[in-house]
Amino acid sequence: MKKDEILVCGLGISGEGAALLALKLGKNVTIVDENDTLSLQKKGKKLADAGAKVILNWNEKIPLPACETIILSPGIRKESTLYRALPENVEKISELTFALRHIPCPFAAVTGTNGKTTVTELTTFLLNAAGKKALASGNVGNSLSNCVAMALDGLCDFLMIEVSSFQLENIAEFPPCSAALLNIASDHIDRHGSLEEYAKIKFSLLKEEREKEKRIVNSSVLPFLQKFLPGSEAVVFSSANKNAEFFADTEKNWIFYKGREFFDCTKAKLKGRHNFENIAAALAILRGALGEEAIFMPQIQTALQEFAPSPHRMEIFLEKDGIRYVNDSKATNPHAVNAAIARFAEESGKRKNIILLLGGLDKGMDFSELEKSLPYVKKIILTGSCAESIEKTLHGKVRMQTSENFADAVEKGCRGAVSGDIVLLSPATASMDQFKNYAERGNTFKDFVRKFLFSHSS
Ligand code: ADP
Repeated sequence: MKKDEILVCGLGISGEGAALLALKLGKNVTIVDENDTLSLQKKGKKLADAGAKVILNWNEKIPLPACETIILSPGIRKESTLYRALPENVEKISELTFALRHIPCPFAAVTGTNGKTTVTELTTFLLNAAGKKALASGNVGNSLSNCVAMALDGLCDFLMIEVSSFQLENIAEFPPCSAALLNIASDHIDRHGSLEEYAKIKFSLLKEEREKEKRIVNSSVLPFLQKFLPGSEAVVFSSANKNAEFFADTEKNWIFYKGREFFDCTKAKLKGRHNFENIAAALAILRGALGEEAIFMPQIQTALQEFAPSPHRMEIFLEKDGIRYVNDSKATNPHAVNAAIARFAEESGKRKNIILLLGGLDKGMDFSELEKSLPYVKKIILTGSCAESIEKTLHGKVRMQTSENFADAVEKGCRGAVSGDIVLLSPATASMDQFKNYAERGNTFKDFVRKFLFSHSS
C-alpha cells in the first residue's frame, strides 16, 4: 500500500471523473485501460496534462503501481485480466463510493426501475428554482466525481444523484440523505437473479438511519419496505392511494399535498400517470432536502409547469396526416412501455390505435407484463435479438409482424398507420444488440421515420 497513490481502472465517464477528482484532492493518480481508442487517447492526454500517469493498451506484462485505493469503473469485470492482476490487499471501491467520501455539499438521491433521470432532472430544476446551485449527477451521464470536483470549486452547492442498481450493488453503505425509491418492476434480472434480489439492492439506498422525511417511497413498493427495512418509516407518494402525503390524483389531474390541492398537472409538460408520480416524488425529495417551506415557494409552481423531459422519453417528434410518431427509446423494460401506452390510451379514449415497435436486447425480463397494454395495441412489429422470445410470450394475444432489421421494422410500422394512429418505438429492451445506446436507437428511429415519410409524400 502506498499512501496518496490512487489507481483508476477504466477510462470511461466515471473513470475520467474519478481521476480528475483524485488529482484535485492532491493524489498521485495512475489510470489504466486495456483499450486504446482515439477517444481514450484524447481523454488520456487531458488527464496526463493535468498530472496523471495514463496507461492505455495495458496488458499483464505492464506492472501496476503500488497504491492506497483502487477505483473500479463499472465496465471492469471480475473475470478480466486487469481485475485479476490487481493486488488483493488493497481497497477496491466504485467511483460513486469514492465521490461520496469527498462530497462537500448537501445531496439527495433517486433510484427505481423507471423515472430516475426524469425525477433527478426535475428535482434539480426545482432546487434551482428554490435558489440552489444544484447539479444533476450520477447515472444521468455526469459522474458524481466530476460534480464533486465542481462543488469543491464552488460551482454548485447541491448535488442530485441518480443511482442505478448496478451502482448500489457496489456500494457498502449509501450515506443517509433525502432519497427516493420510485418503483420496482422486472428489469436486469439476468444480472441480479430474481426480482426479490433486485428489489433488495434498490432498498439499500434507504437502509441507513435517517429522519422519516428523508426516506421516500412509492406506495407500490411498501410491501418490500416492510420486508427489507422492517419497522422503518417513510414518506409515501402515490397515484393509487389517496392517503399518501403526496398523492397524484389522475382523475382530477392534481397533485394533492396532505389532502389539499397543490399542483394542477394539466399545466405541466410532463404527461401521463407515471409522470404525475414523478412530480410527486420530486416534491417529496425537495421537501426532504430543503424543508416544507421550499415546496410552497411560488417559483416551484412555475418550475413544475416549465420542466420538459429529455429526448427519447415519450418524445412526440412528428405529427403528419393525423398520425403521431413517438420516440420512447429509453423504455428499456415492459413497465416503461406500459406507462407510455397508458398515457396515449388515456389521451385517445382507450382506442386500439398504437402500432408498437418492440424488441432489442433482453435482460431476462418478464414480457408477459405487456399483456395489460395489448387492448390498445393495433399491432406489434418485432425487431432485435429477442424478437422470438417476445413472439412466444405474446403469441395469439395480439397481431404481430416480424422484421428483417430495424429499418424494415420502422418501414412496416409506418406503412400500416392511418389517421388517428400512433407509431410508437417503446422497445422494452436494451439497445446494444443493434446500437451503441438508447439515444442512437432513438435518433435512428427518427431518421428512418422521416426518410419513409419523405419518400412516400406526394
Ligand atoms: P430511468 O433513468 O430510470 O431509465 P427515465 O426518466 O429516463 O428513467 O425514463 C425511462 C423510461 O421510463 C421512459 O420511457 C419514460 O417514459 C418511462 N418512465 C419515466 N418515469 C416512469 C415511471 N415513474 N414509471 C414508469 N415508467 C416511467
